[in-house]
Amino acid sequence: MARKVLAGNWKMHKTRGEARAFVEAFLPLIEPLAADRLVILCGPYTCLDILSANAGPYAVGAQNVHWENSGAYTGEIAPVMLTELGVLYAIVGHSERRQYFNETDATVNRRLKAAQAHDLTPILCVGESEALRLAGQTESHIRFQLDHDLKDIDLDRLIVAYEPIWAIGTGKTCAPVEANRIIGLIREHVGQANLPVLYGGSCNPGNIDAIMAQDKIDGVLVGGASLEVQSFARIVNFEA
Ligand code: 13P
Repeated sequence: MARKVLAGNWKMHKTRGEARAFVEAFLPLIEPLAADRLVILCGPYTCLDILSANAGPYAVGAQNVHWENSGAYTGEIAPVMLTELGVLYAIVGHSERRQYFNETDATVNRRLKAAQAHDLTPILCVGESEALRLAGQTESHIRFQLDHDLKDIDLDRLIVAYEPIWAIGTGKTCAPVEANRIIGLIREHVGQANLPVLYGGSCNPGNIDAIMAQDKIDGVLVGGASLEVQSFARIVNFEA
């Protein structure tokens, strides 16, 4: 059976000192880690070396990656800069990148390709806004994102996260059965039976067991609740 993925996306949180303190307190709480679980910590770039120094019980992920190896791209980060630090995963196409930094399906596709070319496993985020959901366009929007983002992508080295935008940071979790339904549709549309598909959006210690009990959900991508040691440890140690 494929491993369940418990990924934390720290977004723009934690200084190096805070990251060090988190890891120190977190490790004893997740060891021994059940063999069926993969924990990924996606910290800010400035913390990645600290996370890597203690990796093993967990793997390290970045929150984005550029498509070029180097160049005049102020503020961006190249795949080789991440792999040099022991990074194995990279979130790509998060809704905050699409919304606040104008990332498009075309640039998301280039980032995915570059990640795979450098043996970084991308975690592609897709999901609908509240307006699209109310308009009944959830499924068509996600299909559109998948079709464009995954053009010429190796489907064997990919994780997808379903993150409904209205559920991110709002405390409004998508009902687990509904997340399960959409995740089933995503896997079917991509056409890869063993594609890991995660749920993200207001996951917390109180709802993790119900989310993970769904048969099509392979794991979670956690924002706010991954910042606090006890709450993320509870999520990682969800009750199967
Ligand atoms: P929250 O868990 O804070 O809702 O964030 C989810 C998310 O965006 C993870 O990438």
